Amino acid sequence: MRVLVTGGTGYIGSTAVEILLGQGFEISILDDCSMGHADTVPAGVRFIQGSLLNAAEVADALAGCDAVMHFAGKSLVGESVEKPDLYHSVNVDGTRILLDEMRKQSITKIVFSSSAATYGEPKVVPILETAETNPTNPYGATKLAIDHMITKEASEHGISAASLRYFNVAGALKADRGWLAERHNPETHLIPNVLCSTQANPVKIFGTDWPTADGTCIRDYVHVIDLIDAHIKALNSLGAAGHEIYNLGSGSGYSVREVVKAASDAIGHQIPFVDSPRRAGDPAVLIADISKAKRMLAWEPTRDMTTMVADTLNSMA
Ligand code: UDP
Repeated sequence: MRVLVTGGTGYIGSTAVEILLGQGFEISILDDCSMGHADTVPAGVRFIQGSLLNAAEVADALAGCDAVMHFAGKSLVGESVEKPDLYHSVNVDGTRILLDEMRKQSITKIVFSSSAATYGEPKVVPILETAETNPTNPYGATKLAIDHMITKEASEHGISAASLRYFNVAGALKADRGWLAERHNPETHLIPNVLCSTQANPVKIFGTDWPTADGTCIRDYVHVIDLIDAHIKALNSLGAAGHEIYNLGSGSGYSVREVVKAASDAIGHQIPFVDSPRRAGDPAVLIADISKAKRMLAWEPTRDMTTMVADTLNSMA
């Protein structure tokens, strides 16, 4: 089976490419490399450096493929608050073009990278897939709009789709050619920022007055290898027309201070930090209920916070 991996040079997409290749899938990649890195593309992979917004490039990338894993898109909450139109264009308009071109080529299977940001501030935690969706930022709103678009595409045109709502992805995979790790500039994610923290430039803790036990935000972290394992299980589950949504996390929460402590324990000394104001668009607590993915995909995350921190640390060495 040949899979088009959109966003296949980014952190999560390149990890998917590596694991899919290891399992015998053939791969095509479409990526504009605005966030990713062409040097992650392995030998033997068809790589189209192009944009989701360019229908001809999307059509070219889809040629000969049987299914799509759709990772490409803008993914930073803070940036989305500043540039909502850009997020709508790349994420929503780009996916519309992808679905249209898939239909023209009779490609009916897609696994989409959705997000816990679709839920917004949850009323009940852990969050089920049936929870209300009220995104608190434009990034989450674009992911929700795409989920709705895919549901419509499934009912009107018979595609078979899975949206995977990621909570917080962390850790890294070591390939023969090196670590496939987060390489964002500037880096905005908590774990790499904590591991880069210095006395001169300490990591900022965004908000210490949240309604949580220690006043900092709580998130649910899942290792990128476990995440991709779920993608492959979701891909293998596709066939019948329809659209399933699955939450992917670990099912338990870590506060920002607990992440700093776990990383300090891994490093062997207290990581410096500075208490700072809240970041726009952040909900207080996001923890996944992952029972649907466990039940329907026979998926179980196996890598804990210590492994996520250790792998991230090694990937940065
Ligand atoms: N965070 C923080 N300092 C940072 C980066 C993130 O305190 O340098 C907090 C952020 O406010 C959120 C949590 O850490 O509560 C996880 O943020 P991240 O950007 O890693 O992922 P997100 O939850 O936005 O997808």
